[in-house]
Amino acid sequence: MHVLRTLDDALALREALRAGPRMVVAGAGLLGTEAAVAARALGADVTLVSSAPVPLLGLLGPQAAGLVAATHRDLGLRVHQGRVTAVRAARDTVTGVQLADGGVLPADVVLVATGSVPNTEWLHGSGVPVGDGVVCDVLCAAEPGVWAAGDVANRPDPRTRRRRRLEHRTHATEQAMAVARNILAGGAARPFAPLRSFWTDQHDLKIQVFGDLTGTDRCHILQGTPSERQFTAVYYAGERVLGAVAVNMPREALRLRVAVESGELPTTDHPADPTPAGATEG
Ligand SMILES: Cc1cc2nc3c(=O)[nH]c(=O)nc-3n(C[C@H](O)[C@H](O)[C@H](O)COP(=O)(O)OP(=O)(O)OC[C@H]3O[C@@H](n4cnc5c(N)ncnc54)[C@H](O)[C@@H]3O)c2cc1C
Repeated sequence: MHVLRTLDDALALREALRAGPRMVVAGAGLLGTEAAVAARALGADVTLVSSAPVPLLGLLGPQAAGLVAATHRDLGLRVHQGRVTAVRAARDTVTGVQLADGGVLPADVVLVATGSVPNTEWLHGSGVPVGDGVVCDVLCAAEPGVWAAGDVANRPDPRTRRRRRLEHRTHATEQAMAVARNILAGGAARPFAPLRSFWTDQHDLKIQVFGDLTGTDRCHILQGTPSERQFTAVYYAGERVLGAVAVNMPREALRLRVAVESGELPTTDHPADPTPAGATEG
């Protein structure tokens, strides 16, 4: 059984994939889907177990998530909707996974990619507020003299008006810089309210997302088309822009990010795509 957190984890998984085994990936988030696609490309016979009917729908929106699903099909990667409840083994060797519906998927290699738990046990009893991560305010302060940044920080997000803990590399870096500025600013500390931003590489798709697509009700394609596997799109809730996606357009993605942040979006002749985005956060 494998997890993917460190370089050693990645090397061990690559070694286990050399023989082209049957592999089950439990969890179809960013990590699980990327690992499944990469393992399939290396020759493994891969089944991805997803609790959602379409992996990454809420995170990437229907257009990009549809392209990812098509890529899975083209690569011969099976997606099984369900929930893994246990890893099965016989004589210390993995034999498969148990599913919540009573089914069993046979496997020689199992990758568990079902999310992470913040490492906060050592803070219990210290007085630092701990919930899902270190609970801090909008300035990223947990209590006087204690600050939180990165995956562990659970903060109110002024953009979505809810608490959140994000696990994205760029977010961790931006928050670390904001915390440093706030420590030095004293009474002039400023709220940390970044535009959510992450990317995922899925086979030949480089997908960049800015903002949140959860709760959006319409999409406008700005450049390219999904069928060309190259496009930029903006997602709205009513008249409000909630986020944007760029697929295989990294140069345009930078401009798109600035446009979403400033609210000044480029106009286009392309018709609006009325397809609703997914309703859940992936
Ligand atoms: C396999 C993998 C792929 C990823 N791919 C992407 C990607 O494509 N794009 C993206 O945006 N993000 C990606 N991420 C997420 C990204 O890596 C994290 O968001 C980022 O590393 C968070 O940085 P951090 O400093 O908050 O936490 P970490 O990088 O986890 O660093 C925390 C450090 O603190 C140490 N630590 C823990 N407890 C203590 C303690 N008590 N005392 C001292 N040290 C302690 C840990 O050992 C660790 O070194 C990926 C993550 C993984 C695991």
